Amino acid sequence: MGAMIDLDHPEVGFAVSALKEAAQLAQKIQQEMAPAALAKEDKSPVTVADFALQALLGRSLEMAFPEDTLVAEEDSATLRSTQQQGIQDQVVESVAKSVPEATLEEVYQWIDRGGKESAHRFWALDPIDGTKGFLRGDQYAVALALVVKNKVQLGALACPNLEGGSLIIAARGQGCWRAHLTGTEGFEKLRVSERENPAQARVLRSFEAGHTNLERMDELMQSIGVRAEPVLMDSQAKYAVLAAGTGDLLFRLLSPASPDYREKIWDQAAGSLVIEEAGGRITDLDGKRLDFSVGPILTQNRGVVASNGHLHEAALKALRAH
Ligand code: AMP
Ligand code: MG
Repeated sequence: MGAMIDLDHPEVGFAVSALKEAAQLAQKIQQEMAPAALAKEDKSPVTVADFALQALLGRSLEMAFPEDTLVAEEDSATLRSTQQQGIQDQVVESVAKSVPEATLEEVYQWIDRGGKESAHRFWALDPIDGTKGFLRGDQYAVALALVVKNKVQLGALACPNLEGGSLIIAARGQGCWRAHLTGTEGFEKLRVSERENPAQARVLRSFEAGHTNLERMDELMQSIGVRAEPVLMDSQAKYAVLAAGTGDLLFRLLSPASPDYREKIWDQAAGSLVIEEAGGRITDLDGKRLDFSVGPILTQNRGVVASNGHLHEAALKALRAH
């Protein structure tokens, strides 16, 4: 394992600079639009930020790696046909904060670098992971991963509201690293916790009750012997917290309202390598590795359990017993 991540590596350098730029734009949109939206329960800031960030990152990718595809959540057809008044103009205005001359046609084109087709080599992007957290002003992440031959080679998370703004980047075989989103200090290496005693485990779960199963979560905590209440957090920021050793165990249980829900690649690819390169372990609820070979939806897996490694078997055992 290298002593430092190779920032001169073209893909690493791209991910760092593209995510820094995207995070800045996300923060501007959150500050300018979200408070008003919260008051009227209007979801448009999320929509505007999703499209604007995907356009910005699609453009960055086109310039850096014109051959590469992007597998991402949004498509321009949705933006073209949205019934929400003025959304297109707001998206262009937002993109223009980073790319002053951007036009609507270009924005559509950049967004559609994100096809839904996975190739031999592609980038997986969630422009705003944790949209509910974004609206509340809590945690959210811009999540970008490079997948080559069905394996995540690079995973990067920008978490503007985590510890003053964090950029986390993991490269296969090179460890997991964190830097401030702004500022010029270097990267520090992240390492999962050494905690082995389940009674002391700090558990992470989604803030949104509808993204997990609360009753089953309680049963699991009892059966594993966890004492503390789970920490609630939106987005793959949870994966960064686990990688940094400030959490020990993480569950994505299936909601009783949507038991057939299957995870999306852009919600898992970056975060999974972040955890593994920090020395942790991530599987589905049955203990199977996450299979990134099947397209945007992880049809071969159910839910997610991630840990510092030490507590993984105890978690899987408890899951089997229920
Ligand atoms: P979290 O921030 O942990 O709540 O996870 C956010 C992600 O959950 C979003 O990016 C969605 O893709 C995903 N999601 C949406 N619906 C569900 C669901 N019913 N169960 C689990 N995850 C979901
Ligand atoms: Mg997401």
